[in-house]
Order: sequence, then structure tokens, then C-alpha cells
Amino acid sequence: MTKPQIVWLRRDLRLTDQRAFTAAAEAGPVIPVYVLDDAAAKNHKYGGASRWYLHQSLEALERDLARHHSKLILRRGDAVEELCKLAEETGAQAVHALRHYEPWWRRAQGALKDRLDLKLYDGNYLLPPGAVTTGSGEPYKIYTPFMKASLAAIDGFDILPEPALSAPETWPASDSLSDWNLLPTKPDWAGGLREEWQAGTSAAMERFDSFLDVVSNYDEDRNLPAIDGSSKLSPHLHFGEVSPAMLWEAMSRYTSEGARVYRSELLWRDYAQNVICQFPDYPVKSYRDGYDDGLWRNPNRGHVIASELEAWQQGRTGYPIVDAGMRQLWHSGWMHNRVRMIAASFLVKHLLIDWREGERWFWDTLVDADYASNGVNWQWVSGTGVDSNMFVRIMAPLSQSEKFDAAGYIRQWVPELAHLSDREIHDPADDKRGDYPAKIIGHKEARERALSAYREAKD
Ligand code: FAD
Repeated sequence: MTKPQIVWLRRDLRLTDQRAFTAAAEAGPVIPVYVLDDAAAKNHKYGGASRWYLHQSLEALERDLARHHSKLILRRGDAVEELCKLAEETGAQAVHALRHYEPWWRRAQGALKDRLDLKLYDGNYLLPPGAVTTGSGEPYKIYTPFMKASLAAIDGFDILPEPALSAPETWPASDSLSDWNLLPTKPDWAGGLREEWQAGTSAAMERFDSFLDVVSNYDEDRNLPAIDGSSKLSPHLHFGEVSPAMLWEAMSRYTSEGARVYRSELLWRDYAQNVICQFPDYPVKSYRDGYDDGLWRNPNRGHVIASELEAWQQGRTGYPIVDAGMRQLWHSGWMHNRVRMIAASFLVKHLLIDWREGERWFWDTLVDADYASNGVNWQWVSGTGVDSNMFVRIMAPLSQSEKFDAAGYIRQWVPELAHLSDREIHDPADDKRGDYPAKIIGHKEARERALSAYREAKD
């Protein structure tokens, strides 16, 4: 009997367009394995919402594998050690995996290569990091030239179908998913997540098909939080239930401006990987030096900010658009992109709280929490990053709320204000607020404080 082949799964939980599965299936019987390795990622082990989603996603993959009379082997512990043990138990010939670029996965890939025949493939990004470079051969630091070079380099994709899988003679032992306790129990806070998300490739493709009906308006509608104008595919892409190439190819029949902009948004994912390949600790370290010490009102500098951070986290800042976003996040594990920018900017500029506090909160509460995308976007908003708005560009939450027509969105997530008119709801007068909190800080005052803190930090 041909020796079995291990497929090591991480954020690539699909059978279609999954090169590791296809190559393994061509070489022999396949043993798919997922190792829950919390220690590897240290401070970036999966947060609560991601753990909930991971559970659903692994279940969906188990169902897909069952159609092929195959199974998912679950192990917990150090990924390198567990894979070596599994290879020894099963006499596997090789381990096949898609490449991942988080620093802990790069270390694990390096360590595993020394011990087993590890075969790595591309496929979770449109182009692998490093595929496009500047004229002088350097990796891009700025999004727009990166995006343009990537667009020029992409020449369509051949999408791999689900491979036919054959089973090993005997299956190795597996943990049971329910024993991993990925789901919250006491309290069970996941009701809103269950309402919103169905994990797995089929659910993702269904969502994408519905999105194709409205993609022609995406260029404008994606900025309007009150309507479903974006694809909501981010957790599906993060966990690799679909590849970006699958979406790109399906989109290639569409010629509208909306479809064109959608493709360029997909390239933000690639760009974020390209950034963490150059700066692996980007999600924990400001790129622009000097900001880390001077700018933020941190507890260790004597400021009392815990209650302000809590008000932001709980959606009680008194700014309806910010609070609507933070409540949407808490309820459903997702927040509209425009509102993510407004809420993040509010934390960093209005409250002068270190962007890493926001990164941590998003990491714990987003179902699409992604080491690279989260870090890159937080530093972009905070003005500390490699490709940033300068710190001095301060988003005005009240006028953004009006400009992007957020009245319906606020009504949905801040029901205390639902009785107000479209005109009043963005910035309710004090006597119209009822139980809704007063503004935690005035906009003008916050703006002036941020600008003077910036000037001080720069000096
Ligand atoms: P669509 O508009 O339908 O876009 C399609 C896909 O393109 C998205 O699913 C996503 O994979 C990708 N994409 C779009 N915009 C971005 C972007 N700016 N950066 C990276 N990828 C993008 N996105 C994450 O996937 N994970 C995160 O942890 C994350 N954290 C963020 C933190 C902040 C402070 C901000 C401002 C943005 C963050 N984003 C993050 C980016 C963006 O908000 C989400 O990708 C988007 O809202 C997901 O919704 P969608 O699938 O409907 O997006």
C-alpha cells in the first residue's frame, strides 16, 4: 500500500482550490489534520469570537470530508511535535500544507522542514508575498503601487476542483472537537454570531452568489453601513473556506466599476501579508518610532483611561455612529468597514488611547480577526504605520455619520435613539438623549487635545 500523506490544515479549511489537498491526493491516501496550537501564537492565540467561528468551520470541513469518506484528525499541542508524532504513528511519507506568513507559522514551517518532508504550496493569497517588487527589487511598502503592480501581474487563475481522496488503511486517533471547548458556555454570548454566520465553503459561496446581485453598486454602497453593500466574506476568507482566487475568477465575468473596486479591495489582504513579511511584529509595534512613548494616555503614565476604554468597548461613548459599530461588533463578531475606521479613529485620536488596546479588542471580538489585516488597518488609522494617514488627519465621527447616511444603522444598533429623526440621530441634543449617555468628550476639545499631544510627541 502507498504510504499516506498528511495534509496540515491551518487557515485553509477547504477542499476546492487547495493545492496541498490536491498534491497529497495525487501522491497517496490522505490524512487531513488540524492541530490546535495555542502556545505558538503567544499573545495572538485565537480570541473568543474566532474560536467560536473555528469550531463551526472545522465542523463544516468534517462534513465536506465525509462526502469523500474521509475524516479530519484533530490534535492539540505544539504543531511541530504533533505532526512529527502523527507522521511516526502513520508512517506518512510527507506533510503537505499551504504557506502561512504569521511569524509563528513561519517559525513552525522552518522547524518542520528540518524534521519531515514538508511540501509547501501557495494559494491563500492572490499572489504570494514577494511576487511583486519595486523597480529596485524591494518589497512594496505602500498599498497603491503594490495594488497596481499586483493587478498587472495577475493573469487569471486556474481553480482546482475538489480532489478525489482515498483513505489510509487505518485512521489515527483524533481528539473530539467538542472537548476543545471552543464554544462559550457560561455565559453563552454567541447567539448573535449564530444568527449571522454559517461557516464552510458552501455557505461562503452562497453568500458570494447573493453579493454578485449587488456588486455593480459596491464602489458606492460599501461605504454605507445602513445597507448590505459589501460581501461579508471576511471570516470565510480568513479561515480559508474560500480562496481569493475563487472569488477573483467568479468576478471576472463582471465588468462594472463595483466589480473592479471589489478586486482591488481583495488586494488589501495580500498587501497586509506583504507588510507582516517585512515587519513581523507590526501588529504589536508602531512603525513610526517615537510615538510609542509620547502620544498615548496610557495607565502607566498616570492617566485614568480604563473607564473610557470600557465605554468604547461597550458602545457607550455618546457618539451614535461609534457606539452602533461597537455594539454591532459585540453582537455579531463583525463591523462594517467604514464604521471600523470611524470607531478606531475615535479610540486613537479622540480618546488618545494606544492603538494596541483597540487591536486587542478587535482581536478578541471579530470573527475575521486576522494578525496582518488587523495590525495593518489599526496602524493605518492611527497614523503610526508604514502606509498611513498622518496622525493629524482626524476623522469627525458626526459628519462621517451624516455623510455616509448612517441613520438606519444607528437605529438598528442603538435602539435608545430609534425615535429620533434622520437629521437628529447623528448628534442628538442633550434633552433628546434619554438613557443614552452624554458625549465622553466634545469633538472640538478632543481634536485640539490630539493635535497638541501629537506636536509634543513629535518634539
Ligand atoms: P468587502 O468590502 O466585501 O471586501 C472583500 C474582502 O476584501 C474582505 O472580506 C477582506 O478579506 C478584504 N478586505 C477589504 N478591505 C480590507 C482591508 N482594509 N484590509 C484587509 N482586507 C480587506 N479585515 C479582516 O479581514 N480582518 C481584520 O482583523 C480586520 N481588522 C480591521 C481593523 C480596522 C481598524 C479596520 C479599519 C479594518 C479592518 N479590517 C479587517 C478590514 C475590513 O474592515 C474588513 O476586511 C471588511 O470590513 C470585511 O467585510 P467584507 O467581507 O464585507 O468586505
